[in-house]
Amino acid sequence: MDAAEFRKRGKEMVDYVADYLEKIDKRQVFPDVEPGYLRPLIPDCAPQDPESFEDVFKDIEKIIMPGAASPACTELETVMLDWLGKMINLPEEFLAGKDGQGGGVIQGSASEATLISLLAARTKTIRRVQSENPELTEAEIMGRLVAYASDQAHSSVERAALIGGVKIKNVSSDDKFTVCGSALKKVLDEDKASGLIPFFFCATLGTTPCCSFDRLLELGPICNKENIWMHIDAAYAGSAFICPEFRHLLNGVEFADSFNFNPHKWLLVNFDCSAMWVKKRSDLIGAFKLEPLYLQHHHQERFRSLKLWFVLRMYGVTGLQEHIRKHVRLSHQFEHLVLQDERFEICAEVVLGLVCFRLKGSNELNKALLKSINEAKKIHLVPCYLREKFVLRFAVCSRTVESTHVKFAWQHISQLATDLLQTWEHDDHQQ
Ligand SMILES: *Cc1c(COP(=O)(O)O)cnc(C)c1O
Repeated sequence: MDAAEFRKRGKEMVDYVADYLEKIDKRQVFPDVEPGYLRPLIPDCAPQDPESFEDVFKDIEKIIMPGAASPACTELETVMLDWLGKMINLPEEFLAGKDGQGGGVIQGSASEATLISLLAARTKTIRRVQSENPELTEAEIMGRLVAYASDQAHSSVERAALIGGVKIKNVSSDDKFTVCGSALKKVLDEDKASGLIPFFFCATLGTTPCCSFDRLLELGPICNKENIWMHIDAAYAGSAFICPEFRHLLNGVEFADSFNFNPHKWLLVNFDCSAMWVKKRSDLIGAFKLEPLYLQHHHQERFRSLKLWFVLRMYGVTGLQEHIRKHVRLSHQFEHLVLQDERFEICAEVVLGLVCFRLKGSNELNKALLKSINEAKKIHLVPCYLREKFVLRFAVCSRTVESTHVKFAWQHISQLATDLLQTWEHDDHQQ
């Protein structure tokens, strides 16, 4: 939608809301639809091609308003997560369908999804261990539980373990910043030998520092065999799986208990919309019976699935695929520009929309470069450490980004590097 249409539709929307408020006494106070009314009214999967705003909007009155906030809100959410799950070709077990055991739910953030899956795994493990060893108290079991994640995992995983009151250990990633099966196996064997109970592993697809991918096909079978809940955090990278050429990165998801990615990060949906699927809904519902986190969205005044419905229909699967592909193409364009300049190096494989790069030289030099880039305020970069190296991260993010922006950014960086290197050589910064 361009700015002109947005202006027009925005005004129509204000009229719609004002009309609704003005004529609210003409509407029924309680819906007469039955739970389950919504699914038969909408297609089974997302449209391939974009639909017009008019068509999407007509459905509000036809499909949503009769169910008002409830049950429409919950039902649309379940159906939208089935649409989205099919778009990334999630195994059937994760979908709710009409009577599946799995299904998706919208969370506020990937951090929340990780926390919820860790808590569900904790409950499930405590119950299992207690049934095998009735003499153990819950506190004794809790004291022996251990969660695991890559040393490249997002900080929210460690935070989830802190909140959940369980130990967490890093699993070492390899020279590609990837966790492989043998690394996990090694810590599991050590920990089991010392009496600990491994119960949760958070695999990352698309790590925050450099977008590396843990090896699900090796890790999944180990977790399944050891009764370890495998959660997959694909907060950023998950959106790319709607493109068949990137779907292989998700192979092994069939071994997971829960999977999460953020449409609010890379699928043009506004914050907050983090999509989480589980194979067994009962694991979540069972874990939160007293404090129904899973059901929290019923009580919230937010209707987060509506924005997903609009975006999926207004862009269509093909439109969203184009968006992802454009970003990946542009990150490779940036990568090529970096590679043509001998002063610089690429620090991790470029798979999606992130390029990790640096000047060949000390961390101090690269910190100075980042400082001059961010102080100029024409572009903004967020750095990271990869092992001991200070690295600059170029992330393609904007919906409206074009090749000219990437060229501009590179010329700018390159010029600042030239300026910096001139002064640097005259100073005695060099180490
Ligand atoms: C961004 C990111 C997160 C955090 O996402 P929130 O939705 O802000 O909680 C978690 N994991 C990875 C891999 C991320 O890239």
